[in-house]
Amino acid sequence: MMDSNIIKKLEEIVGKDSLTTREEDLHCYSFDGTGKAYLPEVVAYPQNTEQVSNIMKLANEYNFAVVPRGAGSGMTGGAVPLKGGLVMAMSKLNRILEIDVDNQIAVVEPGVVTGDLQKEVKKVGLSYPPDPASLKYCTIGGNAAECAGGPSAVKYGVTKDFILGLEVVLPSGEILHTGARTEKSVTGYDLTRLFVGSEGTLGIITKIFARLLPLPVHKETFLVESTSLKAATEMVAKILNANITPRTLEYMDKTAISIVRDKLTNPPPETVEAMLLIELDGEETAVLAQTERMKALFAGLEDFTIKHAQTEEEVNDMWQARRSISPSTFNLRPNKISEDVAVPRSRIPELVEYTEKLAKEYGLIILTFGHAGDGNIHVNMMLDRSDIKQAMAGKKAVDLLFKHAVKLQGTLSGEHGIGISKAPYLTFELDETTIKVMKSLKQLFDPNNILNPGKIFPQTAE
Ligand SMILES: Cc1cc2nc3c(=O)[nH]c(=O)nc-3n(C[C@H](O)[C@H](O)[C@H](O)COP(=O)(O)OP(=O)(O)OC[C@H]3O[C@@H](n4cnc5c(N)ncnc54)[C@H](O)[C@@H]3O)c2cc1C
Repeated sequence: MMDSNIIKKLEEIVGKDSLTTREEDLHCYSFDGTGKAYLPEVVAYPQNTEQVSNIMKLANEYNFAVVPRGAGSGMTGGAVPLKGGLVMAMSKLNRILEIDVDNQIAVVEPGVVTGDLQKEVKKVGLSYPPDPASLKYCTIGGNAAECAGGPSAVKYGVTKDFILGLEVVLPSGEILHTGARTEKSVTGYDLTRLFVGSEGTLGIITKIFARLLPLPVHKETFLVESTSLKAATEMVAKILNANITPRTLEYMDKTAISIVRDKLTNPPPETVEAMLLIELDGEETAVLAQTERMKALFAGLEDFTIKHAQTEEEVNDMWQARRSISPSTFNLRPNKISEDVAVPRSRIPELVEYTEKLAKEYGLIILTFGHAGDGNIHVNMMLDRSDIKQAMAGKKAVDLLFKHAVKLQGTLSGEHGIGISKAPYLTFELDETTIKVMKSLKQLFDPNNILNPGKIFPQTAE
């Protein structure tokens, strides 16, 4: 429990206006995208690195939990204050400190909204490619902590590929600097990559040196309809092996299509079993050459119809349908189990076939869609939790899905992280030695277990 003495000390660190213990405020910081909720005892809004450091020193002295929080859009409970304590909201650390055009680097604070950074760098002809679907509200700090990805990962990579260095406050309050302001640096261990994806359990990121790229000058967009689910999923690896480097290669199955049909000006015929949304970008001549290669790949295949967008409205129409899948799922059933397993892309057909089997056996509605180009398939199981049979079936199906993804040489999570939701399944993928090494890193950085406790590792094994 945090007594008034601790609250007073916290007020001295961040200022009275940057702290709240009002219950109505605490509720706003109790949950994330999973809907799981635990109340913190206090929320603090530090305005600089020194304040973050002083909070951590105090947390060590008085032994209270600290949970860093960006926008709270995480999908695995990472920002949920499972053990109460203090939520450290990064919303006042939200400045773009520098855009260095010559070196194509942005220096930003963690609370900057990803989409805002993208807009700012675009003004000077640059791009920050990682594009999670939540980019209008999620933060760069949250993206770094989760190693977020998006549709463009198939060509450009994910957040870890765009972070050159970090400023991090360790659980002890010490301030660490990782990486360098250069494209290359191999001085010592790669601590940047250790913190990226560490889900706020090893340190608090207070500054990010982000890598930027020139804006691509040309783009072509295609929607491919297929009357065969198997042929569509098999086509993913074939496209990438045909010397085509799409910026995005998204997939949606028949159920996903059925809930977004009304978003398409020209919806596909009912016989369509799956669609691929493909975008090429880069220099115009290269994009046009790849366009020809792609059309040649589909030519004469009777399972496929390829639609090439001719106007910006058509492009928006295609993307609107893709982006509407997630919110539209609730038209099917009131509750959702949303998983983001990834498998080697040649094994997507087997994964999708398995989800169909699970749906039949367990009486669930399962839809699959997502970033097929990098093998990251969103598996959404729709159910009504008030029906105990469906709730149990959902739990069993998740268990089997994870086991099968690992069997296919895949992974539990392509981009959402482990947090609380997937912690019970960690041993499905990682062996004892790996978990032991990871836990000893946590112990090294955070011997008092005050930073985001209860995450990643199965609770019983903590
Ligand atoms: C509709 C929707 C669509 C989504 N689409 C995608 C997608 O396409 N791709 C994808 O990867 N994810 C997606 N997500 C998940 C989520 O948006 C990402 O995980 C995102 O990176 C979380 O950012 P946030 O600012 O909301 O972080 P939060 O949810 O606040 O926190 C996430 C984790 O980061 C930690 N953290 C936050 N800030 C810091 C910091 N400064 N230092 C250390 N740790 C910190 C927290 O403790 C927590 O563990 C989606 C979520 C929603 C709701």
